[in-house]
Amino acid sequence: MKVVLIFPPPADPALPYASLPYLAASLHQRGIKDVIQKDLNLETFLNLLTQPQLRQAAQAAEKALTRGDLPPDRTDPVRRILREADCTIRDLPEALSILRDPVRFYELDSLLFAKEVFNNACDLLSAPFRHFRFRKYSYSTHELLSPSEILSAVDEEPQNPVVRFFQDNALPDLLALKPGLVAISVPYFQQLVPSLILTKLIKHRSPSTFVCLGGPIVSWGKQALLSESFRRFPLDGFFVGEADTGLPELVEALSGPGHLHQVPNFVVLHDGKVRDYSNPPHSEDLDALPTPAYEGLPLADYLAPKRLISLSLSRGCYWNRCTFCNYSFIKLGPYRFRNPAASARDVAAIVEKTGEDVFCFESDVIQPEDLAAFSRELLAQNIRIKWHAVVRFEDSIDDEFCTLLAKAGCVRLYAGLESACQRLLDLMDKGITVPIIERILRSCSDAGIAVEAGVFFGFPSETPAEADQTVEFFRKHRSRITRSDAGTFRLLRGSPISAEPREYGIVVTDVYEERWFELSYQPLEDTGRDHAVRAVAQLETLYPAIKLIDIPEEILLLARLGKEALNDLVPQRGPRNSVEPG
Ligand code: SF4
Repeated sequence: MKVVLIFPPPADPALPYASLPYLAASLHQRGIKDVIQKDLNLETFLNLLTQPQLRQAAQAAEKALTRGDLPPDRTDPVRRILREADCTIRDLPEALSILRDPVRFYELDSLLFAKEVFNNACDLLSAPFRHFRFRKYSYSTHELLSPSEILSAVDEEPQNPVVRFFQDNALPDLLALKPGLVAISVPYFQQLVPSLILTKLIKHRSPSTFVCLGGPIVSWGKQALLSESFRRFPLDGFFVGEADTGLPELVEALSGPGHLHQVPNFVVLHDGKVRDYSNPPHSEDLDALPTPAYEGLPLADYLAPKRLISLSLSRGCYWNRCTFCNYSFIKLGPYRFRNPAASARDVAAIVEKTGEDVFCFESDVIQPEDLAAFSRELLAQNIRIKWHAVVRFEDSIDDEFCTLLAKAGCVRLYAGLESACQRLLDLMDKGITVPIIERILRSCSDAGIAVEAGVFFGFPSETPAEADQTVEFFRKHRSRITRSDAGTFRLLRGSPISAEPREYGIVVTDVYEERWFELSYQPLEDTGRDHAVRAVAQLETLYPAIKLIDIPEEILLLARLGKEALNDLVPQRGPRNSVEPG
């Protein structure tokens, strides 16, 4: 049986996402060789970001304006986009070439120019539509909180450029392969509606092709997927949690020797009936997993001068206590760490096969002692790469740890800081103090490691003064926190707060079953929420380049130019062709 693994749009077309190479390698390991990895996200961007497509979009947007098809609040932004359309169309080939250029990519002015044109081109593609907003990290202006909202978005605006590309190119190409099984990986929420549209198109044209979904967003939405409305949707099944073992089992069940009830973490939907094999959840033994098969992807086509390679050193979170977080709910499995010698060998094998040497260990949070063990392995095996990883602020992170990591090639760490107010850190059960965070930031900076800190405002009971305290903390440590990942509090299904909202001074105002992942709530005592949005805006003024430089690009810059490269990321002057955001 031929298996096609699909990574759907939209996501960043600068790098290959890890799920496809992991799943392909697991299938190969079980002797299933007829496997195709299809980065449909990359294909979509490459197909849509062309001058003819942009000209067509500009004409359609002019018509939509003339006919009054756009809502009033959309007309001015679309007029601005159209005023820049000729420049955008003219500059697009140069911009795409800069993004892949091993010299010009690293020149700040060139890169900012290329990114501005790239974003303007995406805005131009979206201009004729009411709700379609095609960018790396967005697809629709709909809130998409419930199954019914998601399903109506699947049926809406069927002629947007992504759907047209699916119908005219991607679907014929896919069906020409005659796949028996199509597995779509959905790690980001903005991919959900396009994935479902694709599913619907495949099942309409080829009802016998088995189509399933997997990935964190699907695990998150298990209850929603099992709701009455979804059960009528033409989907054959979905994975909840990890699928490295389950997918090969599914192939065997569909092609002969196996049985569906033996497929771990799988839910089958057939004729409106549900068979749920996701309980108890199955957790993979990371030491048994093969090296991901990156060589099965079109590495030369990505929109970057080098491909950033993602590897999971660990899975799950070893802390699992933060009260706002639903991580354990999504991931289901406990914390596991792959043998560091095996991970280092994975790295060496991938470097040898692909020639790439910048890595992203975006696996969930890695325990400091595990990351230290892995760093020692890289040094022992004389593997020279640059890398980024995700950690927690932990007391055990000190000068010695940071020096070891830097020596092993670490250029960047991400850690959730969340707030600089100790009362809130305690309420969140972060298990850390503000002085320790400050000490860690100093250690990282002294070792030459850039730090991205996650932060959010509007945690229940946060006062405006406490939000100001956090903004002030970032201002004080601006040179040590090289990027902030700022947002406002969202009440997530599966988080400890959602289980005991009154303990945190809020009441949930939604029916849980009718929400995919985010719940509405009301505070029992109003401390106001406007300050949260204001604080995010204040923080954004400290990091103006973030709107243009995405994280994979930032990692490549750090890997090539070192931590000081980021000091120049604040633009000295506006890039060419600037268009105000619509
Ligand atoms: S916020 Fe991070 S450290 Fe805290 S429980 Fe979630 S994944 Fe773990």
